[in-house]
Amino acid sequence: CAIAAVLVRKGVERRAKWSRVVGVLREFEEGCSTSGHRLRQVVDAMAVEMHAGLASEGGSKLKMLLTFVDNLPNGNEKGLYYALDLGGTHFRVLRVHLKGTKQKILDHKVEKQAIPPHLLTGTSEELFGFIALTLKRFIEKEGDDFELQPVSRRDLGFTFSFPVRQTSVSSGFLIKWTKGFAIEDMVGKDVAECLQSARTMLGLDVRVAALINDSAGTLALGHYHDEDTMVAVIIGTGTNACYIERADAIIKCQGLISNSGGMVINMEWGNFWSSHLPRTPYDVDLDAESPNPYDQGFEKMISGMYLGDIVRRVILRMAKEADLFGEVGKSLSEPFTLRTPLMCAMHQDESSDLREVARIMEETLEVSNIPLRVRRLVVRVCDAVTRRAARLAAAGIVGILKKIGRDGKGGSSSNSSEGVRRTVVAIEGGLYENYSLFREYMRDALEEILGEEMSQNVVLRLSQDGSGLGAALLAAAVSSSSSLSSL
Ligand code: BGC
Ligand code: MG
Repeated sequence: CAIAAVLVRKGVERRAKWSRVVGVLREFEEGCSTSGHRLRQVVDAMAVEMHAGLASEGGSKLKMLLTFVDNLPNGNEKGLYYALDLGGTHFRVLRVHLKGTKQKILDHKVEKQAIPPHLLTGTSEELFGFIALTLKRFIEKEGDDFELQPVSRRDLGFTFSFPVRQTSVSSGFLIKWTKGFAIEDMVGKDVAECLQSARTMLGLDVRVAALINDSAGTLALGHYHDEDTMVAVIIGTGTNACYIERADAIIKCQGLISNSGGMVINMEWGNFWSSHLPRTPYDVDLDAESPNPYDQGFEKMISGMYLGDIVRRVILRMAKEADLFGEVGKSLSEPFTLRTPLMCAMHQDESSDLREVARIMEETLEVSNIPLRVRRLVVRVCDAVTRRAARLAAAGIVGILKKIGRDGKGGSSSNSSEGVRRTVVAIEGGLYENYSLFREYMRDALEEILGEEMSQNVVLRLSQDGSGLGAALLAAAVSSSSSLSSL
């Protein structure tokens, strides 16, 4: 009888613990919820902040940076160009051969490598030394093709995927680091000059013809293939968007822009903020413990650097709440141990016993004996995080469409007299490219916000190597004379 009583008590305890775990999940799901109503509030807030950021310097958390790109490639570019693409986790060197006369890109060679982690927090000399050396070796290996073009000077497009205050299309200084980079001595320095001094030391003969953001490169390549491409979005380690704006709408620098057409604006939307964003206590903690607290709030809810860590934090809380896995190793309590690609693999595990989920949790979080019902909860956590990220990104895009009068709502905004036009949004980044559920959620949200009919005019197009190829194209286009006024 005493034994029976103990068993009953244990059963009651177990059920109570389980219901606390489920409670944690429910609360989190609610905290992440993105109803259609809320998404529309985010759309409006995005459009409002865009206006504010264009009206005055510092007028909004959205920096709305000038790129001085007022001249997008049109297919007539010709010659041999190099490009460097420094992203969040990878570095690429490209050699691009442009045939000209609308024949499009003839061929290109890419070399990709992971950025050695110690360079993220070292000195600017070390980082640029590495970049210049990789370029030098690449040129030596690939050789210049003298038949294509007499190489007296090599023109280079440099994609630098961080916020830069441009002083021209080929120069600008770093405003701040994001995505885990923290090289103090570099903030405020001219990025092109840093590269310049590194390559001089190596005796490399190249000239930075264009210094661009990855979003601008993606837009350039997108536009090269399809002239309806007005917007580009990056969803990778970090997130950002750029788009083509009318010169007269860029109020903060009236007179500075000579061109009467348009200019690509680098929004730096990773730093967007609005009280309508669904923020949970896990987001607050992640932000506080990140290398850049109070910064890049939108990015921390959307991009690949962070999603896995939000999931880890919720699992940790569940584990603490109910002693889910017995003895917990230190990995579960350590930031960034659950990388987003692994989270994606858990989320998309199609096996009936979710064995991928169990394997990944065992290997990366050092927990074992994970019952099926716990695996199911973990998948739900992944789902909540990814759904919120994808839907917020979709709302951001609609915010841009609204700003440029292409959301089908005619009347509320600037270019609305043009009626409904097809608009292509070029999207690049490892997260978007490799995460099919993310893409599905994003497309669904777009339809939900815009309505099925209108959303058919908006094409989300995956772009590959656009940030690098686009840099080479822009380096080529900078010397030609046509401008965005033709758009
Ligand atoms: C940077 C942007 C960049 C984006 C995507 C963000 O962290 O601030 O400049 O475009 O990441 O790479
Ligand atoms: Mg990139």
